[in-house]
Amino acid sequence: MRIFICFIFILLLFFQNVKCQNSYAIMLHGGAGNITQENTKNSEQYKNALDSAMFIGENILKNGGSSLDAVEKVICFFEDCPLFNAGKGAVFNADGHNELDASIMDGKTLQAGAVAGVGDIKNPISAARLVMEKSGHVLLITDGASKFARENGLEMVDSSYFKTEKSWQRYLKAKKDDKHGTVGCVALDKSGNLAAGTSTGGMSMKKFGRVGDSPIIGAGTYANNNTCAVSCTGWGEFFIRNSIAFQINALMAFKNLSVSEAADYVINQVLTPQGGTGGVIVLDAKGNFAFSFNTTGMFRAVSKSDGTRFIKMFKE
Ligand code: ASP
Repeated sequence: MRIFICFIFILLLFFQNVKCQNSYAIMLHGGAGNITQENTKNSEQYKNALDSAMFIGENILKNGGSSLDAVEKVICFFEDCPLFNAGKGAVFNADGHNELDASIMDGKTLQAGAVAGVGDIKNPISAARLVMEKSGHVLLITDGASKFARENGLEMVDSSYFKTEKSWQRYLKAKKDDKHGTVGCVALDKSGNLAAGTSTGGMSMKKFGRVGDSPIIGAGTYANNNTCAVSCTGWGEFFIRNSIAFQINALMAFKNLSVSEAADYVINQVLTPQGGTGGVIVLDAKGNFAFSFNTTGMFRAVSKSDGTRFIKMFKE
């Protein structure tokens, strides 16, 4: 009898393991800010873009691809889509230039790569991945990052590529382009590996040379298979000062908080009292996920192999 019970127990453990190994999950964000039904006339366009981005990630993960590939390809799609504040369509700094930041992190190896202040790399997230995999460094900036990207065969563009008529008119008119739409993605692949990435044009009207949280590992992006994968969006200076992405990881590692508890803690107990605004997406290696933000809205989406799938924009 005892042997029989042991056998059933081992069988259960085996199936649980197989189930975990075959599951995947992906979360995206397209920025947080004053996003309400009233001021988001083109919400269908955003919804479609989030859906297409998710589809790209889902296909990679479903077919056994890596979380790093999913994160990179999803963010490339966002960077090519002028709706978002990343790649084409990015906001302008005070001098009327686009300065792009991006980072990526591998939760399995804790390797990370980032670029900051670049203006001629078509897909900064791919440059960030190259930095991670081929440079021996974590963060390359401006001309050095561009030189490295060019030497490694990435697609380079004239700086005018990033400018869209709509974003330029908005910049000229108000000199206050409050477009939101930093993009981020976290993913869990079938091998149980987490990855995170973030890409942005930064904050509109930022000073020439300003770098935000998005390319700073531990501030805007973090991934560790033992805890979680995080991508942030919002007022970067607050995310840097509080090491928000790393703090979520630390709350989980040292205080045993769940993804939701850790995400809500940094937003409500750390950022809000200081006047910082924004949001985070957090995913752990079991597929538990949390979105948390203190703005009126955040473009966000999640999809899991268990059938969970939704896209949201406004506070609910
Ligand atoms: N966090 C970005 C930055 O400060 C901007 C954003 O997410 O909206 O550069």
